[in-house]
Amino acid sequence: MCNILQVHWTISPKTPPQPWIACSGCKCLKPFRSSGKIRLNANGKRLDAWLVYRCVDCEKTWNRTLFERRTVHDFSPSTLEALQRSDPDWVRAQEFDLDGLKRKAERIDEPPDVTIRKETLQVASDWTMLEIELSAELPVNLRLDRLLAAELAISRSRLQALRDRRKLKAHPDHGEFLRYRPKDGMRIIFDLSEAADRRAIGEAACPERE
Ligand SMILES: [Zn+2]
Repeated sequence: MCNILQVHWTISPKTPPQPWIACSGCKCLKPFRSSGKIRLNANGKRLDAWLVYRCVDCEKTWNRTLFERRTVHDFSPSTLEALQRSDPDWVRAQEFDLDGLKRKAERIDEPPDVTIRKETLQVASDWTMLEIELSAELPVNLRLDRLLAAELAISRSRLQALRDRRKLKAHPDHGEFLRYRPKDGMRIIFDLSEAADRRAIGEAACPERE
């Protein structure tokens, strides 16, 4: 296609989910935030590991069990090393493990703050179609229309109008995609051939110039 501006956005949540846990300091349910630190206990060949959380109000700790009484041989050397030094990537995968958290807490807050890294893949000088590929490895708690409205500086009602006129499409398209979270691997396609502010929208979709 020669009439396209194609970009890639990598969307990463900033603040990990916060489970609500009975806090012994506050004497009520409170959100707890991850400290990013793993506590490891070795008993002979047996290992226990916890991710340490703290009450957002009083700093009391809650140790979230990651596993109990597993043998050292269950783990690869690289995983053992990651556990020992609270490797940030390994910890981050645990922090965003919503299924694991839901087994410990009935209520989980997911802060909607995200960072977005934008790349330009191809740009035709006379482009009229804007295609945005999304990567979102970790769950982000943000509706797609809010994300697009904020990043492209166009209103949510205009997004809906474009959608209604089939000037905004998604692949895969599961109906009301604008109301749901951005999905990893999703492609958003705008036909902006009739938009007078096409250049401004295109600039907002691309990385900021140095
Ligand atoms: Zn507390």
